[in-house]
Amino acid sequence: MRRYDERVALVTAAGQGIGKAVAERIAAEGGSVVITDLDGDRAEAVASEIGEQALAIRVDVTSRDDIDEAVAAAIERFGRLDLLVNNAGGCVVTSRPERTTVDEWHRQLDVTLISAAQCIQAALPHLLAVRGNVVTISSVNALGAFGNVEYSAAKAGQQSMTQNFASRYGSSGVRFNVVAPGTIRTPNWDNQPGTLEKFKAMYPLGRVGEPEDIAAAVAFLGSADASWITGLTLPVEGGALLGPTLLDLSPSGPAG
Ligand code: NAD
Repeated sequence: MRRYDERVALVTAAGQGIGKAVAERIAAEGGSVVITDLDGDRAEAVASEIGEQALAIRVDVTSRDDIDEAVAAAIERFGRLDLLVNNAGGCVVTSRPERTTVDEWHRQLDVTLISAAQCIQAALPHLLAVRGNVVTISSVNALGAFGNVEYSAAKAGQQSMTQNFASRYGSSGVRFNVVAPGTIRTPNWDNQPGTLEKFKAMYPLGRVGEPEDIAAAVAFLGSADASWITGLTLPVEGGALLGPTLLDLSPSGPAG
């Protein structure tokens, strides 16, 4: 299926992991993609692997100047912008809420929530022109208490922001949705060997997610197949939010 023929997407933090998989999926479905990342070499590597449909730009999402330059470059090269994927915004603060400083709170909110708002603001005039849409990558941490206070709060803020943008711009035909991933096998986990194997137990579907699981959900929400869906947070989490089965924990074991 080529749902992105003649469509243009801009993906933040697309140099590796989920963002890279999203960019590859959109390109595989015929789209042109603007690969942005703080690490310009990573962005270049992904873009050169995709080929002519891709443009690489070094962007720090906490810099409004960088964001504006990337949007302008997208328009100059491809002439339009149909989809913004707010993927940047990982966990940058080790959660210790009793001692987290104001500066640390700002760093987490800057890269996760305020950056997404700034990207939306910069992209909006172009999205309005083509009735485009925004998909923001949140986390199951926004939907349950998995332990990281600052990251979870910032991710939950993305959801509320999305709902309010969706309501405000629905009549203009611009949609806003969120994908909330569970644990995904990306380089983010490379410095914690064995963690993903342990986390498998949290997932009723028996595995952690792959970047391609998230890319498939983003490609759906960003496409015309989802043209009547806005303000949604779609968990893509192998059933993690279902919680433990109490019967499995009872001394007599699961009821037959
Ligand atoms: P990753 O750690 O594999 O890659 C992050 C990328 O972001 C890197 O290429 C890095 O250079 C880039 N980056 C860092 N700071 C940046 C900045 N200021 N501006 C632009 N780019 C910047 O990331 P990932 O695991 O693929 O996660 C991507 C998104 O998915 C994040 O928002 C994360 O919170 C979310 N998420 C990830 C998981 C997971 O288990 N991996 C789970 C839930 C949600």
